[in-house]
Amino acid sequence: MDQTTDKCPKCGAALGEITETATGRRLQRCSQGSWNPQTHKNEGCEYVKWLEVEPKELDEKCPKCGAPLILQVTRFGKKMKKCSAGSWDKEAKKAIGCDYVEWINGTTENLDEKCPKCGEKLVLFTTANGKRMKKCSTSGWDREAKKATGCEYVLWLKPGETVSDNGEEFLPPEE
Ligand SMILES: [Zn+2]
Ligand SMILES: [Zn+2]
Ligand SMILES: [Zn+2]
Repeated sequence: MDQTTDKCPKCGAALGEITETATGRRLQRCSQGSWNPQTHKNEGCEYVKWLEVEPKELDEKCPKCGAPLILQVTRFGKKMKKCSAGSWDKEAKKAIGCDYVEWINGTTENLDEKCPKCGEKLVLFTTANGKRMKKCSTSGWDREAKKATGCEYVLWLKPGETVSDNGEEFLPPEE
């Protein structure tokens, strides 16, 4: 499967190199199009092809059967761990092998901003249902004591509000 030889369905030009977004999703842009960080606009052909992210094998074992777990990222950026001994039978429409799946709730990205409370770095936290907040990198959760630890600074972002300038927010919607 050599995806780099694909042609743009809009203008027929070759597709450009595969690039990775800040959230780990991969895409290929039309070679006739480019992202202008100054104007926050696409220039030229706006075709973008989203690619499946290949599963990564993890250094963790399935709690059910002991096979290695793999990390899979969906097209919408949600992450899950699943058992490498399991797979999906497309014809029978059912799971075969081990069915262990663990959704990873939320992702964290490092921000280049300082916490107004304590001066440590902030991180951008995205919950499993897509809500986003900035919080202090020193904050954590003590599972045993069931309470928050570290700095408690949190700033929820409004839907659509952007903090990172990687261009991903401005890409055309996925087809
Ligand atoms: Zn094109
Ligand atoms: Zn398993
Ligand atoms: Zn703080």
